[in-house]
Amino acid sequence: MTQPIAFIDLAAQRRRISEEIDRAIAKVLDHGAYISGPDVGAFESKLAAFSGSRFAVSCGNGTDALQLVLMAKGIGQGDAVIVPDFTFTATAEAVALVGATPIFVDVQAADFNIDAGQLGDAVDLARSKGLNPRAVIAVDLFGLAADYDALNTFCKDHDLLLIADAAQSFGGSYRGRKVGTLAPVTTTSFFPAKPLGCYGDGGAILTDDAELVAVLKSLRVHGQGSDKYDNVRIGVNSRLDTLQAAVLMCKLDIFADEIAARQVVAARYADALGNRVVTPTVPSHSESVWAQYTIRLPGADRNAVAAKLKAAGVPTAVYYPKPLHRQTAYRQFPATNGLAVSDRLSHEVLSLPMHPYLDEATQDRICNAVVEAVA
Ligand SMILES: *Cc1c(COP(=O)(O)O)cnc(C)c1O
Repeated sequence: MTQPIAFIDLAAQRRRISEEIDRAIAKVLDHGAYISGPDVGAFESKLAAFSGSRFAVSCGNGTDALQLVLMAKGIGQGDAVIVPDFTFTATAEAVALVGATPIFVDVQAADFNIDAGQLGDAVDLARSKGLNPRAVIAVDLFGLAADYDALNTFCKDHDLLLIADAAQSFGGSYRGRKVGTLAPVTTTSFFPAKPLGCYGDGGAILTDDAELVAVLKSLRVHGQGSDKYDNVRIGVNSRLDTLQAAVLMCKLDIFADEIAARQVVAARYADALGNRVVTPTVPSHSESVWAQYTIRLPGADRNAVAAKLKAAGVPTAVYYPKPLHRQTAYRQFPATNGLAVSDRLSHEVLSLPMHPYLDEATQDRICNAVVEAVA
């Protein structure tokens, strides 16, 4: 009987840094500052330094990170925020939670990311509904940065805030710059399965904007002013636990090495599968962190392929089976014409096991199973 294959092998990472993690956790248990302890600020500095952004503000999770930015910018009722249709729910959920209206636009099949060419239509659509277009949230799906040159140009020309939802791409780069510096504001998530994950929920916002940082730090602690019992605005309770900050510092130490290991895994997948299925491509100016390795199976019965892989002991996942404009909760929101690519991708995509500790023998087993399943 062969070993079951992990979709994401967090246990292998844990074995690698178990001593460091145990020590870091013990230190927090000893000092006892579970909320807003010293590890939180230390981690924020380390995170900002890693990406090259001036500031990092940690918070409870990646969804809150988006919501906090929208709240800080006063985006709400009567405002429109443009989001890609093919993404995780949280991108649009944060917009709706603050009372603004998400406007869905299509993505590009080549990189799964928002099609900057459709932003003009989305702005017109917002105005035709009497909404004030305020922001664009670009998602770096599966770990690859969106087209920030085009996005920044459009947003500057139209006076829109560009927010990078980098929940899947933190650690990646675009034109020699790291994710965290590609838009005026970047949000990320430390959900355990993300490329940089903690042992629970966590998130952060990266920016060079000191004024925004001050507001975010107030909002995440109930809108505090000079202290916790001085409330100057309506905020939320969204802090990164001290324990998670301590864990994340250990993981950040090996993150660059893990990103390099992910490149090797992705290159081997492309070699083995490139002429059997549609494998993801990365422009020469970008480095993906491969949050997911997502192949496309146009014309094939995707669910049958997934079932065959399962029978062969290979776990897979479908990100995402339904574009947002087809979700019950989001159906009523405006969408630009032609979300055809999102619809098509939702039927074609299949994500394979991907993590930095995927050894060659296991990867060969996966590739052979894929080749057989699509034959
Ligand atoms: C995971 C994810 C989020 C939300 O992060 P949480 O920490 O789970 O709240 C937001 N956007 C995208 C694209 C994600 O993949």
